[in-house]
Formats: sequence, structure tokens, C-alpha cells
Amino acid sequence: MRLFNTLTRQLEEFAPSRDNTVRMYTCGLTVYARGHIGNFRTFVCMDVLRRALKYVGGWHMHHVVNFTDVDDKTIAGAQQEGVSLREYTDRYIAAFHEDAAILGLEPVEDMPRATDPANLEAMGNMIKALDERGHTYVSEGSVYFKISTMPDYGKLARLHHEGMQAGARVDADEYAKDDARDFVLWKATKPGEPTWDVGVGPGRPGWHIECSAMALRLLGEAPIDIHAGGVDLIFPHHENEIAQSECATGRQFSRFWVHAEHLLVDDKKMSKSLGNVYSPKDIVDHGHRVSALRYLLLSSHYRKQLNFTWSGLAQAEESLTRLTDFLARLQSLPPGEAHPAVVERVDAARQAFDSALGDDLNTAAGLAAMFDLVRVINGAIDARDVSSTDATAITDLFTHFDSVLGVISLRRAEDETPPVPVEEIEQLVEARKDARRRRDFGEADRIRKDLEARGILLEDGPQGTRWKRA
Ligand code: AMP
Ligand code: ZN
Repeated sequence: MRLFNTLTRQLEEFAPSRDNTVRMYTCGLTVYARGHIGNFRTFVCMDVLRRALKYVGGWHMHHVVNFTDVDDKTIAGAQQEGVSLREYTDRYIAAFHEDAAILGLEPVEDMPRATDPANLEAMGNMIKALDERGHTYVSEGSVYFKISTMPDYGKLARLHHEGMQAGARVDADEYAKDDARDFVLWKATKPGEPTWDVGVGPGRPGWHIECSAMALRLLGEAPIDIHAGGVDLIFPHHENEIAQSECATGRQFSRFWVHAEHLLVDDKKMSKSLGNVYSPKDIVDHGHRVSALRYLLLSSHYRKQLNFTWSGLAQAEESLTRLTDFLARLQSLPPGEAHPAVVERVDAARQAFDSALGDDLNTAAGLAAMFDLVRVINGAIDARDVSSTDATAITDLFTHFDSVLGVISLRRAEDETPPVPVEEIEQLVEARKDARRRRDFGEADRIRKDLEARGILLEDGPQGTRWKRA
């Protein structure tokens, strides 16, 4: 399997370094807001990478995806609402699990929270190790990493050292490339902020130390095999993770660095001010299927920017329907022997799919291999050259495709559960009945249209109102 390694800017042959198990860390959500479909583009890409490593590569996985539940943004959010950091972040962690499930993300082996005591302790220990090796200094109670103590600092983001100012510091979790400075490992206690004492002075972690400590605590000795995230994390987050982890252990931190490009919405960056920030749940509330979103996310290569549009989503939905129609057609074929021509086509499609996924996760080419097979087999069915024995082999192959892509099973699961919870539909049907009794037909109509927009149709008949999926 070949993967593009951001560290070397090259395609490289990948295999885990030991035990046939891939040790992979994906930077997870900063839980200060509900994750948007941009965040989930990265998570879906890494889910498909995980599945390809398992079902195409044949390896086991130890995959860690964290929750950043303490950083500048989460603290600010909790303060603004006047609730505890736990209460605030719990909410968005729950929302993540809901969205991850409707997007068909395979559960991973570990989902640590930065504020779990064992993780905070690991951060303290890593900072102490850095201190012993002469990479830190303290200023006004905060501990900083001194970048001049690491000759190859900047190797991931390819920074130029001339621009770096010796001794200048940065306290913020996020800053620009041309502002590379000594960065904060542990921030001194401030009034109103949560604080912990793990042996490096009272305070709270900087964002970068969290991932270094969680990755090595859970995945074991460096180097881990793959570290992943969106492209915006290359600098400063991943650069600083490398600095901390390599200077603390004296070993390479991660062999491969994999980065997904951004998702845009109508060619624009997603931002609250533009009103184009959608969560996976918003997609359902707009009457669409999340399986179509997953399909759309897989239709382009993870290292290319992808532009989300509602029409693109509708097209994805159509493509997915073509696949499920095809699979339904396979159910009604006459019994008989396997046709050698079909067997040959099925083998070729499996090879084309596996080599596409093994070629730096080329999901677009994988989908093309699937649709090629659909086209050829549809033709063969028309010519009565496909038997039920062939159909079994084809269906098995689609099970393999979908173990990696995870779109067909997701669509089937959606068909079994309506897009709006049944309880809510029933409540709304009652509310509409009340509105009609009051002769408030505007309100009654509004309820009907709202449900329709969310994929539920109401039908009035002599026995009352019935609902069905659009
Ligand atoms: P955050 O919660 O900001 O730490 O981001 C969680 C993950 O989502 C990170 O891997 C980010 O790189 C990624 N991400 C953020 N915005 C986008 C976007 N528009 N498209 C793709 N990935 C994104
Ligand atoms: Zn991280």
C-alpha cells in the first residue's frame, strides 16, 4: 500500500513497523462547537484509511482519535456560558458520537479526552522529560519549549530558520507559520481557568502537548506508524507535536504523516459569519441522506480540496441509488452455473478496487471500478448472461467494497430508520391536528412543509393522518 507522507512530500510504501498492527493517531475534534462537515471530511477520510488498512492491507488497527477538551477555545466557550468545562465539552462530545454514527465512522480502539487524569499525568511526565533534556524554560509560571534547542525544528512544515526570533514566545494555541516562536507547553493558572498540578506548576496544558502525550501513552513506544489530521494542522500543531515527542524520547515520533485537504462550501471557507457551517445532522434536517454526504466526500481524492454544494449532494444521492438499484436487480436472477466471463470481470473489479485504494487511498478510482462493474454486469443481465451463482459472487464483492467505503450499509441503515425520530413525527402530527382544530391553517401547513423538508410526507385520509418517508 502506498501513502503520501507529508514529512517527505513523497509517495511511500506503507507497512506497520511491528506486530502486523498499524498504530495510528488522528487529531480529533476540539469540542467547543458541534463538528461541521469540514471536520467530518477529515474524519471520514481517516475512517476510510483505517478501513483500507484493515480490509485491503489486511492489518490490525490500534487507532486513537482524541477529543481536545481543554484549550483556548473550549475554555473561552465555557466561560462565556458560565458552565464548567466538563459540562460544556460533554455536550459536543455527545454530538460528535451522534454525528459519527450517522456518518458510519467505524468505532476506533481509543477515544481519549485530554483532561482524563492519566493523560494529564502523561503530559506532566513528557514536560519533565523535556526539561531534563534542556528543551524548556519557565517564564511567569508558564513552561515553554525552546525551539532553538532542536536543530531540525520546522522539518514537517519546511520552515525557514532565518525568520525565527530566538527567545520570542507565543502563548496562543494557534498562530501563523511566519510567527514560529518558542511555544507554550504548560500555561500558568489564570483566574477563572481550570487548573491541574501534575508536577510542572499549577496550570493547564497547551494544545500541542496533549496530542503528543496521548499518542505515546496509548500507542506505546515511538515511532508510531501514522499520524493524521487536516492540512491546517501541519503548522503549528503537528510541527510542535514532533518537537515535543522527539525531544522527549530521542526517537522519531511518527513514520508517516497523512493530511486531508479542506472542504469548502460553495467555493468558500466554512464560517459562522457566512452562515455555511453545517453539521451532519443539519444535512438530515435539510431532508438529505448522510450516506450521500459520505459518498460525496469519497468521490474526490483526500489530498484535493472538495467543494460542497447541495446539487453535488443530490448527484451523490443519485449515484448511490444506482448502486442499490443494481444490487436489488441481482436478487432476481435465474439459477445456474457461474459464467466464466462474469467471474473474470468480478476478479478484475476486485483487483482494480484494491489497487486504487492501495494507491494513496484513491477512492474516486475505487468508485469508478465499482461503476464499471455495474455497467458491464447490467449489460450482461440484459443479455441473460448472469446467473444467481454469479449474483452471489458479485454481491460478495460489493460487501468487500463497502467494508472500505461504508456507504451502502449506511444507506440501508437509513432506510430502516426514518430521518426524523418517530416520537417527534407523532408529536408534530398531533400539533398539526391541534392547529387545524383552531383553524390555524398557516401553522398546520408550516408543520407539514417542515417535515417534508426533513424527508417525511404526511397524508391525510379517512383514518386520520399517516406519515411515510419521502
Ligand atoms: P478542530 O476541531 O478545529 O481541531 O478540527 C478537527 C479536524 O478537522 C482537524 O483535523 C482539522 O484539520 C479538520 N478540519 C477543520 N476544518 C476543516 C475543513 N474545512 N475541511 C476539512 N477538514 C477540516
Ligand atoms: Zn492533535
